[in-house]
Amino acid sequence: MPIYEYICLDCETKFDALRSMSEADAPILCSNCESGHTSRTISLFAAHSEGRVIASAGDTCNTCRTYNCTSCGI
Ligand SMILES: [Zn+2]
Repeated sequence: MPIYEYICLDCETKFDALRSMSEADAPILCSNCESGHTSRTISLFAAHSEGRVIASAGDTCNTCRTYNCTSCGI
């Protein structure tokens, strides 16, 4: 089962939860204040891993021809 990270919008506590994929976006209570105002966050680790894979492929942006295209988002 994947681990998802959530953040409480009331007390800004981040917490992890082990849930099935079908439950990933289901409401979850804050582990600190038990508020229902929580939001799932994107895992930084996964985002960084994806960035490395894209960079190692050696493809340049089709729009601006740079390796680190931040303006085009490709
Ligand atoms: Zn909270």
